Amino acid sequence: MQKLVLFFSFLLISTGALAQRDTSAFTKFNDFNNLVLNGGVKKPEAQKQFETLLKRINILEMIRAERIIPKTQWVFPLKGYKSSAIGGTHGNGYFDKGYRYLDGNKHGAHPAHDIFINDRNQDCIDDHTQKAVDVIAVDDGWVIACTNQWEPNSNMRGGKFIWIYHPATHIFTYYAHNNQIFVKPGGYVTQGQKIAEVGRTGYNAYKKRSPTHLHFSAFKLVDGIPVPYNPYEQLKKAKTL
Ligand SMILES: [Zn+2]
Repeated sequence: MQKLVLFFSFLLISTGALAQRDTSAFTKFNDFNNLVLNGGVKKPEAQKQFETLLKRINILEMIRAERIIPKTQWVFPLKGYKSSAIGGTHGNGYFDKGYRYLDGNKHGAHPAHDIFINDRNQDCIDDHTQKAVDVIAVDDGWVIACTNQWEPNSNMRGGKFIWIYHPATHIFTYYAHNNQIFVKPGGYVTQGQKIAEVGRTGYNAYKKRSPTHLHFSAFKLVDGIPVPYNPYEQLKKAKTL
């Protein structure tokens, strides 16, 4: 009996270590996402690549997770803020018509909600708390793509962005315009974990006419590709940390 327990603990430890070591799926996904952003992949080929990469990530998740219990509620992606900070009226800042993930940086529409912070002088410091505002993961998941690099003359719209894949619900979330990010592809984040600080990076977000905000999107898998959906109700019900 003892031997059996020992054997299974060994098996658990070794598969756990394997999952931690094999980050190549994430590096590959991150490279792939950059290629999509730069318009460097042909669509049918890109779709195939996306599906293959996601399969690998799902396998890693099976190794990692003892059990997946989907959370019933999100946490609000900005610490100390709630849905009243969402731009527009009743979530009408969201419109996804004409958006396709595989179009990369050249997409139309605004399949997102902009969540504004109190920052009149645009220094990315909250006017009330005198601190940077934390961007937090709405749910548990894997960081599949991100960048901490952005120059003011770049035409990349997302700036310093993060993509998270939430395996329990097969949903993706996207956080853009960050000042600084604190995660890497292949990192596993838990709900409420700080992943970035709100910033003004990105082609439009950098401009003076744009108040400081987080650009937040959610995606479902439709025919194997991420398709945006309106997460307004989920954001309204989300818990403020
Ligand atoms: Zn936006």
